[in-house]
Amino acid sequence: MKYISTRGNAPAKTFTEILLGGLAPDGGLYLPEQYPQVTREELDAWRNLSYADLAFAVLSKFATDIPAADLKAIVSKTYTAEVYGNGRPDSNAADITPLRKLSEGVFIQELSNGPTLAFKDMAMQLLGNLFEYALAKQNEELNILGATSGDTGSAAEYAMRGKRGIRVFMLSPNGKMSAFQRAQMYSLQDPNIHNIAINGFFDDAQDMVKAVSNDHAYKAAHKIGTVNSINWGRVSAQIVYYFKGYFAATKSNDEQVAFSVPSGNFGNICAGHIARMMGLPIGQLILATNENDVLDEFFRTGIYRPRGTAHTYETSSPSMDISKASNFERFVFDLVGRDGAKVREFWSKVDAGATPDAPAFDIKHTPYWDALPKFHFSSGKSSHQDRLKTIREIWEEYGVMIDTHTADGLKVGLEQRRPSLPLICLETALPAKFAETIREALGREPERPESMVGIEDLPQRVEVMDADVVKLKSYISANLG
Ligand SMILES: *Cc1c(COP(=O)(O)O)cnc(C)c1O
Repeated sequence: MKYISTRGNAPAKTFTEILLGGLAPDGGLYLPEQYPQVTREELDAWRNLSYADLAFAVLSKFATDIPAADLKAIVSKTYTAEVYGNGRPDSNAADITPLRKLSEGVFIQELSNGPTLAFKDMAMQLLGNLFEYALAKQNEELNILGATSGDTGSAAEYAMRGKRGIRVFMLSPNGKMSAFQRAQMYSLQDPNIHNIAINGFFDDAQDMVKAVSNDHAYKAAHKIGTVNSINWGRVSAQIVYYFKGYFAATKSNDEQVAFSVPSGNFGNICAGHIARMMGLPIGQLILATNENDVLDEFFRTGIYRPRGTAHTYETSSPSMDISKASNFERFVFDLVGRDGAKVREFWSKVDAGATPDAPAFDIKHTPYWDALPKFHFSSGKSSHQDRLKTIREIWEEYGVMIDTHTADGLKVGLEQRRPSLPLICLETALPAKFAETIREALGREPERPESMVGIEDLPQRVEVMDADVVKLKSYISANLG
């Protein structure tokens, strides 16, 4: 299996070759040359596999340059009840992504029982083990540099802690995260994890990361890399739980299901799209946004109008506060019949910046609009009031406490579903991470998993720094020993 760029101007590469990198050299994103197909016999054989065995079966189709025994060892070490046993006491940790039935034909698939209580652990934990494996083989090292306002940074740190050949330098805005988020990250004592609290906002931290990454000589000399959401390894790992959820919600492979996905960077639902392209019987992929509704607008109108930071709202489902969905380009590549020149044309306008009057592109009166239905997407949006109402209703009717992102997914999923299809709503975080909104909705504290009780009291390890790129570079250099 080789991987090609969505912009059509980069040499084809193997899974391992693209694993540690980011964008393709032509600025595009990597995708398989062709999606591997899953036969009916395979679906039948996969139905009763454990999560780790299913992950091995699915990923074997993508990571064809990793020897089978090695891949098997990596997934077996990743998807264990110990790693994914941080969720609710009544969850079945051995299932890794257990399905919770709310009512006839309506389910929540728990993806947030990993170490940081958010679905990013599903892929990031695998990435940590894949990186360690690939680096050891190449006798290489990697220094991961990133900026976070919460979820992604902590998932990366918990995945990379203690890994040989890897160091993490994670920038966060000093004093801007919740006490819980700070404790989650800063209490890690592993010597290869470096938390750097920047005196400034998230954007300042992000700019520092960009400045270091744009210094190509420094970047190469110091082996700097990233783990952002366009990483193909992350997307491929996420494909697995669509298969797992499908098998858990159905009795036979003749049935179809709908998935509802709280979306930001389009990484999660992109994996669902690929699972469907492989032949998994998904009848409907429901994309849910919050008030930042760029993607909902596209699927309803054909207009893609990414917004700048000035028009990106801060909401109570903050991990979806994104106005330029980085993985969306992967879907558009398929939508335009894998025409790299068309993607280049569209993204030259995306990169130039769209305004309300001049969208980046509009497919309404093109053949692409007629092609869109065959990808089975539906979409909708959710507001703060919708979130509160959904959290309250699910708590009162079923005694299940959901977080704000999952609430967006449920609201839109219930609204958009075709009644003939079982609906699987992906849970992307646990409510413990968003206590303020839970208090507002329910007038009580969220349940907190035992592994997280009292983490605010643990000693913290963090370097406070001004937003100064020179200081950041010398800090990195001083900590490479
Ligand atoms: C990252 C995240 C999302 C959005 O997922 P994408 O892959 O970016 O679409 C939704 N909910 C939570 C809790 C997240 O952390």
